[in-house]
Amino acid sequence: MADIAGRLPYLSQDLARHLGTTSAKKLAKLGLHTVEDLLWYVPFRLQDPGDLTPISGLTPGAQVVLNLEVVDVTTRTTGRPGMTLMKVMATDGSRLIELPYFIRSRRMESFYRSKFRPGVRAFFSGKVREYRGELSLTQPKADFYDEFSDVDALGQEATRIQPVYHASSAISSRAIGKAIQTVLGAADQRDIPDIVPDMVRAQRGMGHLVDALRHAHLVAENADYKRALAELKFTEAFVLQVLLQRRRFIAQRSTTRAWPPSEDGILARFDERLPFALTAGQQRIGEEISHALNGTAPMMRLLQGDVGSGKTIVALRAMLQVVEGGGQAALLAPTEVLAYQHYRTILDLLGELSGSGLLGGEDRVGVALVTGSQKAAERRTSRAEVASGAAGIVVGTHALFSDDVQFANLGFVVVDEQHRFGVEQRDRLRQGPSGPIHVLHMTATPIPRTIALTVFGDLETSTLDELPAGRAAVETYRIPSDNERWVRRMWQRAAEEIAAGGRVYVVCPRIDDDGAAGEDGAEIASDDDEAPRALAAVTKVATQLAEDPALQGIGIGQLHGRMSAEDKDRAMADFASGRTPLLVSTTVIEVGVDVPDATVMIILDADRFGLAQLHQLRGRIGRGSKPGVCFIVDQAREGQGIDRLSEFTATTDGFALAEIDLATRREGDVLGRIQTGGRSGLRVLSAIKDRRIIEDARDAAAHTLAGDPDLSEHRALLWAVMNLADEGEYLERT
Ligand code: ADP
Ligand code: MG
Repeated sequence: MADIAGRLPYLSQDLARHLGTTSAKKLAKLGLHTVEDLLWYVPFRLQDPGDLTPISGLTPGAQVVLNLEVVDVTTRTTGRPGMTLMKVMATDGSRLIELPYFIRSRRMESFYRSKFRPGVRAFFSGKVREYRGELSLTQPKADFYDEFSDVDALGQEATRIQPVYHASSAISSRAIGKAIQTVLGAADQRDIPDIVPDMVRAQRGMGHLVDALRHAHLVAENADYKRALAELKFTEAFVLQVLLQRRRFIAQRSTTRAWPPSEDGILARFDERLPFALTAGQQRIGEEISHALNGTAPMMRLLQGDVGSGKTIVALRAMLQVVEGGGQAALLAPTEVLAYQHYRTILDLLGELSGSGLLGGEDRVGVALVTGSQKAAERRTSRAEVASGAAGIVVGTHALFSDDVQFANLGFVVVDEQHRFGVEQRDRLRQGPSGPIHVLHMTATPIPRTIALTVFGDLETSTLDELPAGRAAVETYRIPSDNERWVRRMWQRAAEEIAAGGRVYVVCPRIDDDGAAGEDGAEIASDDDEAPRALAAVTKVATQLAEDPALQGIGIGQLHGRMSAEDKDRAMADFASGRTPLLVSTTVIEVGVDVPDATVMIILDADRFGLAQLHQLRGRIGRGSKPGVCFIVDQAREGQGIDRLSEFTATTDGFALAEIDLATRREGDVLGRIQTGGRSGLRVLSAIKDRRIIEDARDAAAHTLAGDPDLSEHRALLWAVMNLADEGEYLERT
């Protein structure tokens, strides 16, 4: 966005213009391209170099700065190959001190030698340690100066509190600080306008943004830095909340078709047919959704419910409301396996109400399946049913939105396992093929509230917090993989369950034994400091189990992402029917697969999976009335993921596990699944730790938008919001 004279605002300007191309290139490697990027690159801590101290005044542990003249330099090799020890002898005029430097390469050595020559002067700063019985500084930072320098000024500079930036091999923290000083020094308040409205700032005692940035970078005191950081966090959270709420607001000003429920339509007949009573939660959320579908504001709702809470029925009932009004509803699944399964489940649940692809109309519901891997004939038929409107319900993968799929009258889209979609994709979905439509997102990955606010602030949330009654419990046991007796007992148990009509999943982190990567999306934790170990692989485990006497005569199937869609469907069908009641699989079965007879889940190398993923996997059993048992087999040694696994055996509450997961993982990991690759998405804000700030910002954003929905009175804010939206990929890729 340029101003009237066509000039780019200061914040959007390229760093090269202010710092030269060489520095700009180095900063670009840190993802910093514009002045604004750089200004928001806030130091992660402050370093107080300490006071100017004479050699006689050193005390162990103190941070000090010494003003010294180099007297002598010697080097010698060390025990470690390639490592040189350089001893710099220096004096402060009354005493001598020996400063050791460990140098790792020849190139560095000649560099050091050129710097440390007898007679040169420098400020040395570092922490006082005992070195060979003497107090000294190890590897101190040195700021050289010469006889023309203003020593007092340099001394002040050397003892000033320093911001510490995340640096790279290309550019040091100090050079980043210098670059920031340059762009901050050239800026005034018009260049860095306040984004947060005066009122909102006044209420919170916040100063100007330009001052917060100055305090964050040109730090004089820790307290100033802390306050500045809090203000920057609020500012970032505020812009984000305004963006999300504005999307919702704009969406709600657009209109779509309303789908009124009917008294005695297909939905009523469907409810009569249901073999069980809806849970209170299903009923309540069903009414909320029904109400929303009956309005002209496009629905933007997130339905969260733990695995097995019965989201599919809720979605299907909502779809039927649209279908009986003569519209079409689509169910978007993340994988072909799931799309196919939903298709069959929906046909089953509808029973005689399904028109099996015949004319839709009043009495029956046509259901079509659309995936990318369908054969030409199948493809033609299903696409024709979608285009004619004969299919009221269309189940599919992303292929639903390819050009060869034309809907007759699409009014509603349900997105299963929503966590794989970002903000922009949600916007696109809502736009529909011909005007805005209602959208319901469903997720079984419980999303802690701050994350939900940060990432899904544009959606209304409904939570299914109870499981259907009569759901048998799932017990979880940990089996150390080297305990042969327990392992043997586990396979016997699997055989017993199968003999009693049950089904057994065996999940492995890998497909092949060749050490190649695991399934796409499998969260296999990496341990750099651990020797690589052979992880259970589908093909190998299946072969081994076939030879296991305990499993004699039991059909064993395989399922993984490298199989064709057809083979995958067949494997699932054979498993469900009992032809192969033991299925060795990767995490492709992680989300949503529903085989009610499945009673045993065996997860091999369980320490390699995240808690959320383990929970999803365990959610595949205990779905019918039969109790389930989950075995997690692992080689985790003490302290390595064992705590996590014990938590997992102790609770089946997905929300509790999500909180634990959050507490034990780094921010990037948590947001990684829902965030962009480029920049981390958030600059100074932590979606995990800054909950209070995020909630405060949300209220402030709502207030601001209520008074000025178009932000016409808040140009700087509008600019910041558009800028964030332009970056576009925010929270986008997975
Ligand atoms: P999820 O929320 O994990 O998608 P599903 O919708 O697949 O769960 O439901 C899990 C199982 O529970 C299915 O077999 C479904 O038929 C069954 N179910 C759903 N609602 C109820 C209910 N109210 N009472 C009993 N069983 C139910
Ligand atoms: Mg589901």
